[in-house]
Amino acid sequence: MSRRTIIVGGGAAGFFSAIALAKAHPGEQIVLLERGKSVLQKVRISGGGRCNVTHACWEPRELVKYYPRGGRELLGPFHSFACGDTMAWFAERGVELKIEEDGRVFPVSDSSQTIIDCLWGEAKRLGVRVLTGARVTRLLAPARPPAASWTVYVDGQAYEAERLVVTTGSNPAVWKLLAELGNRRSRTLAVCLQY
Ligand SMILES: Cc1cc2nc3c(=O)[nH]c(=O)nc-3n(C[C@H](O)[C@H](O)[C@H](O)COP(=O)(O)OP(=O)(O)OC[C@H]3O[C@@H](n4cnc5c(N)ncnc54)[C@H](O)[C@@H]3O)c2cc1C
Repeated sequence: MSRRTIIVGGGAAGFFSAIALAKAHPGEQIVLLERGKSVLQKVRISGGGRCNVTHACWEPRELVKYYPRGGRELLGPFHSFACGDTMAWFAERGVELKIEEDGRVFPVSDSSQTIIDCLWGEAKRLGVRVLTGARVTRLLAPARPPAASWTVYVDGQAYEAERLVVTTGSNPAVWKLLAELGNRRSRTLAVCLQY
């Protein structure tokens, strides 16, 4: 059986992670679990329904000043992937973006649906499996990493995966699940983004 990655949370971060992993590991099974009836709901309402995709700021040291909580932690990631990369990423997938006078970046369509369609379309094209109505209630770390798997519980059902990515935003219930795991070393990428 092919290796499996489970992504918990079907928001912008979950979709972006799923797409990046599916591209980097063709043939692996990428499963995205979303507790809600539909995915990308915050993207829909973001930027007043227009989706403020990023900001025209090209210098990571300048950019982190806009993040009073977590600016230091974001400096490294912004050196790997910053606003210009975000714009290029969408442009490569056919999304036209515009920079407004104050530096905010929106799709030319002025509709967040354009961004949703892009993320959904790309995930589908790459074979990402999306399960909605799937609330993760428990996480079990691998007993003997790296040989064993993570166990992810959705109500009573258990899913096994070699890799686990958590992108549930500021949901305190999931932060608690992560805290209960303690400080285990394994091939895990826990991405917890908070607005
Ligand atoms: C009104 C508003 C406007 C905004 N406008 C912008 C904007 O224009 N530009 C911008 O960059 N940002 C904007 N934001 C911030 C925006 O929320 C984030 O940029 C982005 O949507 C966060 O994405 P995310 O994937 O990290 O989190 P989320 O979008 O919150 O996704 C987390 C997902 O995890 C799911 N989840 C939670 N717990 C579980 C569980 N136990 N099991 C399974 N799934 C679970 C949730 O249902 C959710 O779908 C706005 C926020 C709000 C509230």
